[in-house]
Amino acid sequence: MQEEIVKAEKMKVVSEIAASVAHEVRNPLTSVRGFIQLLADPALSDLKRQQYSSITLEELDRAEAIISDYLSLAKPQNENLECIPLEEALAKAARILSSYANLQNVEIETEFHSNATIYGNKAKFRQAIINIGKNAIEAMPDGGKLVLKSTGDERTRKVTVAISDTGVGMSPEQVNRLGSPYYSTKDKGTGLGTMVIYSIIRGMNGQIEVQSKEGEGTTYILTLPIDSCTPSK
Ligand code: ADP
Ligand code: MG
Repeated sequence: MQEEIVKAEKMKVVSEIAASVAHEVRNPLTSVRGFIQLLADPALSDLKRQQYSSITLEELDRAEAIISDYLSLAKPQNENLECIPLEEALAKAARILSSYANLQNVEIETEFHSNATIYGNKAKFRQAIINIGKNAIEAMPDGGKLVLKSTGDERTRKVTVAISDTGVGMSPEQVNRLGSPYYSTKDKGTGLGTMVIYSIIRGMNGQIEVQSKEGEGTTYILTLPIDSCTPSK
């Protein structure tokens, strides 16, 4: 019964998001249409032509980002479940984030103290970590440090993954809004990244706690159940 309610609630959220995704994608499309019309003017200066075409590309990228974030949200949670070696998954996510970090002068540090295994969809778990890491990197426009740390507790049978940055931080009100759709403080943000994080981690029976201080940085603390499964190689 409880499960039915949760399912119905999820369906409601997904359809609400579908409606707003359509709306969000329409905005960049409308602006792309306008700029293409402007580009057709033969008297347009080279500078304007360059500016318009780069705005057009940016707007298309935005539409693409909204669609891909939405798709990962709408995909079923309980498919391709497997045994995930935590350390390996975190190391892979850190590798994927490293080029983005380099670009922004961010140093990535990893401290893995748990070789536990957890259970879920590997690609989705990695995506949740990447989304958190991406936001962390974007919160450090002048560079900084991103730390990925894991610890296991055999007694409670839980692992903790802490992802911290030395970025701009958030007010308590901003922290409260995390996970709600289209909340973004970025020019080209989709505001879907944290929704994806929350839906993936909760789908794995995990919990998320966010500690943040404006001007100092943010730490995402994920707590997930240890699963004594054997990873397939
Ligand atoms: P987007 O990154 O597209 O803006 P997200 O859902 O990923 O959307 O994040 C929503 C908002 O939460 C961001 O715009 C930002 O204001 C805030 N945020 C998330 N993570 C952090 C962080 N590590 N430091 C500061 N602000 C953050
Ligand atoms: Mg984001």
